[in-house]
Amino acid sequence: MANINPDFAIELKKYGSVNFNACYNCGTCTAVCSLSTEEDSFPREMVRYSVLGLEDEIQASLKPWLCYYCGECSESCPRTANPGELMMALRRYLTAKYDWTGLSGLLYKSLPMSIIAFIVTAIAVIYYSFYESFNVEKIMHFGHLFEMISIAAVFSIILVPNIIRMWWMTVLKQKAKVPFTAYFKSIWDLIVHMFTQKRARDCDDNEFRWLEHLVLVIGYLSLLFTTVVLDWFGTDNLFIIILGYIESAIVFIVTVDFVSSRIKQKKEIAKFSQPSDWFFVIWLFLLGFTAFVVRVFIDLNLIETNLWMYLIHLTVLVQWALLIVPFGKWTHFLYRSFAMYFDKLLKEPVKA
Ligand code: SF4
Ligand code: SF4
Repeated sequence: MANINPDFAIELKKYGSVNFNACYNCGTCTAVCSLSTEEDSFPREMVRYSVLGLEDEIQASLKPWLCYYCGECSESCPRTANPGELMMALRRYLTAKYDWTGLSGLLYKSLPMSIIAFIVTAIAVIYYSFYESFNVEKIMHFGHLFEMISIAAVFSIILVPNIIRMWWMTVLKQKAKVPFTAYFKSIWDLIVHMFTQKRARDCDDNEFRWLEHLVLVIGYLSLLFTTVVLDWFGTDNLFIIILGYIESAIVFIVTVDFVSSRIKQKKEIAKFSQPSDWFFVIWLFLLGFTAFVVRVFIDLNLIETNLWMYLIHLTVLVQWALLIVPFGKWTHFLYRSFAMYFDKLLKEPVKA
């Protein structure tokens, strides 16, 4: 028998969906969704599950990740139940369920806790700088080391176990029969989806948004590579220096457009921003912008006398790496890619 949570609406409200109970099950949203198929039909089914409080079914479903939030369904809903925003709220809810630490749920549901976490990390950076007597060389060396250690630690301690939990909830627990070879055969799809998010192109009126995302992903990942592996702040190599300038400029220019779109609220998808959405775009902007300015300060020999600039960048970096990447909206990039992979596995035919 299905488990019903009568308080699910209250729970989901904390993740950002408020009006889905107005749904009268007409099916218009599913009919207009260009990503919904006979095999993977949404968002109406997810709205029904949410109205009924069928948490187990929601946790087992990959459908919230198959939605790319074009907003078409919300614009067409005769009851303004906002199914597009519900799908977004379900993604936040699922992120919290996959996360073994429980911190994603805590930060998604509580703005004061998020603010406290940001303040604590900022204080930790200032305390460390004080401990090092504001020595520029030592602090910048630490910053570079921190990037490498935090990437390895966040992936191995938080993100990999969370993806295993997602796999358990959506594939193993459902007792789905997946041929062992399918795990290898579908790896290429996982990589392609991860780096291109190509399914978003099929979302109505979404070509430009998809392109912007693609440019941002390439800019962000290559900036990460340039700072961590090529040591952008420490190098004298002109090619690497220019490369880092271009990458960081791409990151902050694209994110300016994202922020302005959320402020203007013209598009359906920008109308209901949650704090986690703001943190994501603003911190990504700050990451690119402060990295750019730090390198300008290094090139003008100003960094020795203006350590404060590097400390701002380091604070943004620490908050990004320890809060937004493991527990915030950044994880959607990873979970969505794995959802595509698991969905493909579940559709692989089993030999009789
Ligand atoms: S269009 Fe609106 S009312 Fe109709 S099923 Fe979808 S959410 Fe419900
Ligand atoms: S937001 Fe777009 S992709 Fe998502 S369910 Fe609605 S119509 Fe489909």
